[in-house]
Amino acid sequence: MLLIRHERGIHVVSPGRAGLAGKDHWPQECFNNAGVPGVPAGDEGAGWAREDAAAGRAGWPRSTIRLVSSLDILASRLPGGTVSTDPQTLHDRAIDSWSLALLRRVRGDDLPEPAAVISPARTEEVATVLAWASQTGTAVIPRGAGSGVCGGAQAGTQAGTQAGTQAVVLDLSRMNRIGPVDLESQTVEVQAGVRGDRLEEELAKSGLTTGHYPQSIAISTVGGWIAASSAGQASTGFGAIEDVLLGLIAVLPDGEILRLRPVPRSAAGPDLKKLIIGSEGTLAVVTEATLACRARPTAWEWLAFGYPDFTTLATTLKDVKRAETGAAVLRGYDETDAQLGFGALNHTTGCVGLAGFPSGPPGLDARKQAAQAILQTQGTELGARYGEHWWQHRNDAVQTYAQIMGPERSFGPGVIVDTMEVAGLWSNVPRLYGDIQTALSAHAQAVACHLSHLYPSGSSLYFTFLITGADDHEAESTYRAAWQRAAHACAEAGGTITHHHGVGRLKAPFLETELGATGAHVLTRIRKALDPAGIMNPRVLQP
Ligand SMILES: Cc1cc2nc3c(=O)[nH]c(=O)nc-3n(C[C@H](O)[C@H](O)[C@H](O)COP(=O)(O)OP(=O)(O)OC[C@H]3O[C@@H](n4cnc5c(N)ncnc54)[C@H](O)[C@@H]3O)c2cc1C
Repeated sequence: MLLIRHERGIHVVSPGRAGLAGKDHWPQECFNNAGVPGVPAGDEGAGWAREDAAAGRAGWPRSTIRLVSSLDILASRLPGGTVSTDPQTLHDRAIDSWSLALLRRVRGDDLPEPAAVISPARTEEVATVLAWASQTGTAVIPRGAGSGVCGGAQAGTQAGTQAGTQAVVLDLSRMNRIGPVDLESQTVEVQAGVRGDRLEEELAKSGLTTGHYPQSIAISTVGGWIAASSAGQASTGFGAIEDVLLGLIAVLPDGEILRLRPVPRSAAGPDLKKLIIGSEGTLAVVTEATLACRARPTAWEWLAFGYPDFTTLATTLKDVKRAETGAAVLRGYDETDAQLGFGALNHTTGCVGLAGFPSGPPGLDARKQAAQAILQTQGTELGARYGEHWWQHRNDAVQTYAQIMGPERSFGPGVIVDTMEVAGLWSNVPRLYGDIQTALSAHAQAVACHLSHLYPSGSSLYFTFLITGADDHEAESTYRAAWQRAAHACAEAGGTITHHHGVGRLKAPFLETELGATGAHVLTRIRKALDPAGIMNPRVLQP
């Protein structure tokens, strides 16, 4: 709401909902050259919540504009309580789970915080927010649950946001409605802020599952999965988010609502869903989705074998994948990762290969036997307990990561633990493994690797590495050097720098190498076409 004091009295200007998307509905004197309501030209961003003193300026209209603040205007268009400037909320939503951001927070850096956290409950409210942001040139950082590990949901860099103003965080977590479930089609409609564990609890009541089980399932949302192109731990059998996502509703930067109907497949032009998948909040805000479900496994059966070296392990798992045995989980641990994962079982040497079969589909015994025949050709049987142990502890790393990188600092200061998940064709897997391990080891104290998302043509490689320094600052510069060198090694070996964590701010400097100059330019042009004001998650994907 804007108060305009004319010589003959105060006029309250409060545009109706229909007028939110266009400045045509505002009196012309409310606009400066930059099109920012109530903020004199050249003063953009300096005017949050202040009385405007521009009345006497040369060239300014004779009427006095009393600024209630751009945020107040937005708040007046949304249900009460949607816009928060509570200091603790701003602090909590300022960063995601990128290890460098967590390090900076615990070492006490003055990290940029958003001007506000906006928590809409409906798609139309998101449209209101984005229309306002485009009009005012305010950067918007969409946020699901903040479990992203690449700085994709971060309020700004130390150099400030693109527009030189404070960004706002668009927190989707209140958009957490689940349903309806279509039992005939086996699909579920959800709002984007639904957390994975809640979704699975709800679907279990109908004997269904999405089969999308990221390790972060209890700390991540459907919208975050789509935006960051997530893959779950059973993706080898059940597919990743692009296989589960049937339709979506998203809001474009100008507030327009894009509705992509749920269908099993479509040849109606380029798949716009795929444009949104992995866009990390730079092209649109996902507000609703229809996901494919499947019968929920009532139990899992496991095979586990030991291997003398990583190449033998990888070749064996490739053969199991190609044999189409119905193993939904296939995992291969190098020797270091096997120690970390199975040390509790007194595992001492060698690599470990796991195959997990959901019970339910027919022919399980025969399919398991076929997998076993391949696994035992060069492997030593370890027993189902390895699989059962993994299943039971599959999400423990969420807590371990928080303990190391959070305030507890269980490994002490000067320590960063991070992961790098790349992917490549089988013909490149040995080189990716060797070269990235060498690159990381030049800087890291420990490097472990596993294969966890397998395809007939290739695999992901998931490296976990530990950086140490005399203090946090030394650890930070070592960390940067490690990423630089490992990203280069990945590119040289023909891999992609990310299989499922996305790019964020962390990998933005490496994206052009992967896409090529032309590919990067295509992305820039798409961004500019959809988001001419440049408000959507600046500096994410591209620096
Ligand atoms: C311990 C740990 C384990 C993990 N394991 C896995 C794993 O197994 N598999 C996996 O895929 N990932 C994993 N992750 C990474 C992370 O959980 C995923 O990237 C997840 O998809 C992020 O979801 P989120 O809701 O937390 O999104 P956020 O972190 O809040 O956001 C991620 C990105 O998406 C954007 N975004 C969020 N919501 C929306 C929306 N509705 N519309 C538009 N843009 C949006 C944000 O701007 C940001 O760029 C793990 C993370 C941790 C910390």
